[in-house]
Amino acid sequence: MSLLSVIVPCYNEEESVSLFYEELIKNEPFFQEKEMEVEILYVDDGSRDRTVEEIKKLRERDKRVRMVSFSRNFGKEAAMYAGLEHSKGDLAVLMDVDLQDPPALLPEMISWLDQGYDSVATRRVSRKGEPPVRSFFARMFYRLMKKISKTEIMDGARDYRLMTRQMVDAILSMQEYNRFTKGIFGWVGFRTKWLEYENVERARGETKWNFWKLFLYSLDGITAFSTVPLMLASVVGVLFCFLAFLMILFIIVRKMIFGDPVSGWPSLVCIMLFLSGVQFFCTGILGQYLSKTYMEVKKRPIYLVKEEL
Ligand code: UDP
Ligand code: MG
Repeated sequence: MSLLSVIVPCYNEEESVSLFYEELIKNEPFFQEKEMEVEILYVDDGSRDRTVEEIKKLRERDKRVRMVSFSRNFGKEAAMYAGLEHSKGDLAVLMDVDLQDPPALLPEMISWLDQGYDSVATRRVSRKGEPPVRSFFARMFYRLMKKISKTEIMDGARDYRLMTRQMVDAILSMQEYNRFTKGIFGWVGFRTKWLEYENVERARGETKWNFWKLFLYSLDGITAFSTVPLMLASVVGVLFCFLAFLMILFIIVRKMIFGDPVSGWPSLVCIMLFLSGVQFFCTGILGQYLSKTYMEVKKRPIYLVKEEL
């Protein structure tokens, strides 16, 4: 018999915990037919509502429910890592608790593994129900990543993914502190089958991501999977040296023809402001990478467990 670990990160999701369970066990006949055992591993990411109580209630009913509870909110990336680390299955699947990752898709995903794939990933082809500004920036992010990163990161990819133990172990071997799982999935490789579906709106509760959080997360993604921004300073530097050289030639020639008209301080101020802007921007990029390196060097644990069931 094989064991499937269903890993579900939860942060303030008291309403969704049991709803998710009900929806998941609708696949029971399929699991039985496949002679597959299931463990449902809820990772409580330091919720402040009744999420933990809800999970415990479920566990009283069904011993296949397990829980890892964090000492505080560490973020979804940490929750996914902890889930993979605590999972025991030969197969593992990561799912959101809000039913945006439809459990009804699981049987199809599992049958793809039988056909020799190591991993079955999902992406949504629409972003219906999402604020247009958010969709726009998300698209821009993926387009940028395609240009500046060697790692494949799919537009619209979800974290909803089924994997073999081999792939789980590969992911666990990447112990970086600044985690960007969408990139990590691509980085470890393995044969991946992509399934597509229309966006599903959240069943209960509300999203934990606002625009600013997503923006910072996208910076994490860029610094974790590309070093191209670090080259920007050099490129701009060379470009400006070339420009300066042309300007010097221009001014020498003008001086020889027209004499010495001392004018042009407004343009000088504009140029100085522009250049110092560019310099600060480049220093900022350096700062981004430095701060990530700083956090990495500290080797802090990715998460801390408070309770385990
Ligand atoms: N989540 C988490 N820790 C966090 C934020 C979110 O474990 O700090 C979980 C959340 O409970 C949900 C999943 O990550 O199961 C996806 O979050 P959400 O639905 O808010 O994101 P969205 O679908 O809006 O991108
Ligand atoms: Mg969601």
